[in-house]
Amino acid sequence: MSNYKTETKCIQSGYEPGNGEARVLPIYQSTTFRYTSSEQMGRLFDLEESGYFYTRLQNPTNDAVAAKICDLEGGVAAMLTSSGQAANFYAIMNIVEAGDHIVCASALYGGTYNLYAHTIKKMGVEATFVDPECTQEELDAAFQENTKAVFGEIIANPALVVLDLEKFANAAHAHGVPFIVDNTFATPINCRPFEWGADIVTHSTTKYMDGHAACVGGAIVDSGNFDWETHKEKFPGLTTPDETYHGIVYTEKFGKGAYITKATAQLMRDLGSIQSPQNAFLLNIGLETLHLRVPRHCENAVKVAEYLKNHEKVAWVRCPSLPGDKYYDLAQKYMPNGTCGVITFGLKGGRDAAVEMMDRLKMVAIVTHVADARSCVLHPASHTHRQMNDKELVEAGVQPDLIRFSVGIENIEDIIADVEQALR
Ligand SMILES: *Cc1c(COP(=O)(O)O)cnc(C)c1O
Repeated sequence: MSNYKTETKCIQSGYEPGNGEARVLPIYQSTTFRYTSSEQMGRLFDLEESGYFYTRLQNPTNDAVAAKICDLEGGVAAMLTSSGQAANFYAIMNIVEAGDHIVCASALYGGTYNLYAHTIKKMGVEATFVDPECTQEELDAAFQENTKAVFGEIIANPALVVLDLEKFANAAHAHGVPFIVDNTFATPINCRPFEWGADIVTHSTTKYMDGHAACVGGAIVDSGNFDWETHKEKFPGLTTPDETYHGIVYTEKFGKGAYITKATAQLMRDLGSIQSPQNAFLLNIGLETLHLRVPRHCENAVKVAEYLKNHEKVAWVRCPSLPGDKYYDLAQKYMPNGTCGVITFGLKGGRDAAVEMMDRLKMVAIVTHVADARSCVLHPASHTHRQMNDKELVEAGVQPDLIRFSVGIENIEDIIADVEQALR
């Protein structure tokens, strides 16, 4: 980790050209890498030596961008994935096997909910979903003998529930398992979950990190803080010999790098959800301005939320940075400089009025996306979360009338003017 401040890390971390080399991170658009001796290539395959051989495992462009994200989060190792979904899938699959169990805060992105509630269940891994506002006792009661991880979103998409990081971290550690946080909405500009006890952080880089709605991507960062060896019997995949690599033991050979090395060497090798170097290059350009864009998103979002709150046709508004919001205190604790650019609201006219208002917006577009420079809206009950039944919707914190408004970084007066004419 470098000692630079966050703003500098956004620009400088991950890539340092040598004398006469490209100033800008090059795109290593190559599937493979050349060696002069067959012997050396063999050592790479045995993980005896580090180096590039095939882009499904590692690529220099991707590694540089992963290193930047790692530095921003304050971690020890990181990897890029093809999407946020792949990141959340790998983050869990790297430490569970059929017959295992995880505990999740229930306010989740729709895709993540489906992944943990249904898809990994077919692989023999069960999830228990707990109300993020549960008591310590209720949280403790969710753990089982076979629990291997705790997962939650820092700011749930789209419920905007702020996760009490310390409560979940303490529970995870009391039960000898790591705490995994999806930090997509806060980004390391507003929150670094490792400072609050998280062990692993995931990202959908598709959102603010890319910031321009150009590339789908994900990342996993390891803090290096979780001691797998202390809980050896729970994590045999990391602490006992891997026969597919001549019996190496990840924790013995790679120490704090064990978790990410295993995720790369096994999961990426076998499942192959790599990010293309071209996308990593674009993601890196997005990261260079993350520290400028995120504060503006947050500032604009609070202004739109204030405007909506005072509008006669608006029934309710949720923005964790707005005084009076249910999650204001938690947001102030974990994200005093701002939360995210996404707010939600409902109209007095309910679901039908929501749909009509959205159709009348001119600049603000209806898209299945959040967290890029352009303002956009979505109605989760009829879009992203439409496969959920009413009970699941409520558990995920999504009311049927909820409009998700991803406030962009256009001029605030233009954004509010569009909302105003649509509401009228
Ligand atoms: C979008 C999103 C995901 C999924 O990411 P993709 O890049 O779309 O696969 C996961 N978690 C959160 C919080 C998200 O907003």
